[in-house]
Amino acid sequence: MPTSGPERLGPDPRPLDQQFWDPEMQTMGREERRALQDERLRDVIRRVFERPVPLFKRKLESAGITGPDDVKGVDDLIHIPTIVKDDLRRSEAEHPPVGDYRFTDIRDCVRVGTSTGTTGTPTLMLWSRHDIWVEYESAARWWWRIGYRPGQIITHAHPAYLYGGGVMLQGAYEYFGLLSIWVPPPDTDELAEQALRFWMRVKPDHPFTGFSTGRFWEVATKVGINPEDAGLNIPHMPGFGLGKGLPLMTAGAECYAYPSGPCGQKPGAHINEDWCVIQAVDPDTGREVPDGEWGNLTVTTFGRDNPLIRYDLEEAAALLRDECTCGETTIRGLWGGRFKDLLASQGKRFQVNEVESALRKVEDVAKPTLEYQVVKPKRHDAPLVIRVESTSTGDRMDTARRAAAVVKEELGIDADVEVLARDTLPRSGYKATRLVDD
Ligand SMILES: [Zn+2]
Repeated sequence: MPTSGPERLGPDPRPLDQQFWDPEMQTMGREERRALQDERLRDVIRRVFERPVPLFKRKLESAGITGPDDVKGVDDLIHIPTIVKDDLRRSEAEHPPVGDYRFTDIRDCVRVGTSTGTTGTPTLMLWSRHDIWVEYESAARWWWRIGYRPGQIITHAHPAYLYGGGVMLQGAYEYFGLLSIWVPPPDTDELAEQALRFWMRVKPDHPFTGFSTGRFWEVATKVGINPEDAGLNIPHMPGFGLGKGLPLMTAGAECYAYPSGPCGQKPGAHINEDWCVIQAVDPDTGREVPDGEWGNLTVTTFGRDNPLIRYDLEEAAALLRDECTCGETTIRGLWGGRFKDLLASQGKRFQVNEVESALRKVEDVAKPTLEYQVVKPKRHDAPLVIRVESTSTGDRMDTARRAAAVVKEELGIDADVEVLARDTLPRSGYKATRLVDD
């Protein structure tokens, strides 16, 4: 039996057949939860004025909020202007290194990371011990909901070092009680093979899933490993469109890495409302859109050392408030993609993932893994330029015609498809670049 008692890192063990990780918080009455949110929000506002936290103090004062008593609770959030990532970036540039939006000193924190910086200068992420605990507990609720239990073996290939997401995931798995096999991202074939061989020695109970599943699959077949012996499932990541939405899974590591998790019984992901308020906001009015409609994902965190107030992630979210059959009393959120990834061509708006879903229907480009690029449309009336690899030795013009036909059918737009030989497009160990400028 694992040691229990004070000489142990992590949470108290709980019965494996209990339905929720944290029954008290996950099944609390909605009125009681609202009272807790109001109290935690008032505490954040009080700290803005007391510490003070200059960026948020300016925001509050610009809305006529001149003291802590002006905010009674969650209903007052709509009066507070939103902030976006560029505000954080500017704050860090003007008040280096950590900006003027922090609620703690940098030395009160124990972990620092950066965002991936795929879009401009990465922002700095700071966590105190308490903030890490909030994330670990939040992640634990998610994994317990989907049936993970302490004692199981899991694996991931997140980037490490300054990138903050990898160590957060690894730590959260360990806290929960999983044995986590952290393999390197498959940036090169050698690194991918190292991971594959390790999975054959120590087989995860939960096989690898992630952005680079296709990449591992490809290297496995290249070096003569049966992907299934390494526990890999068929690399079929379902595509999604803005119309359908996925369960809301993250609000950015800089804000709240694990704000919610799906239960699988009803659409969306249950939001940890005791630690945040998630709003779907109409950017023109700052008010919430009706339930079920897309608005800007806007997050206010509390109950942590470094909260953010009305942080607009510039991504689409929709909220579902109807009662869930699983018994959890929190509201649920859907995620509809990043607005900056939204493409426009020939009068239609779509995500690059929707192009991917369409291409998956063409067998000779979808196998063994789908490798493609979409050229960002510059003229609205021109066909969408798509490059895709094919292993087929047959007529490439025919493959191109069939690919263009499914894109037309699924997205309603004309495409100019260029079919390339295998291994022509660049590979990536984490998130492949699918959208290119030319
Ligand atoms: Zn549920």
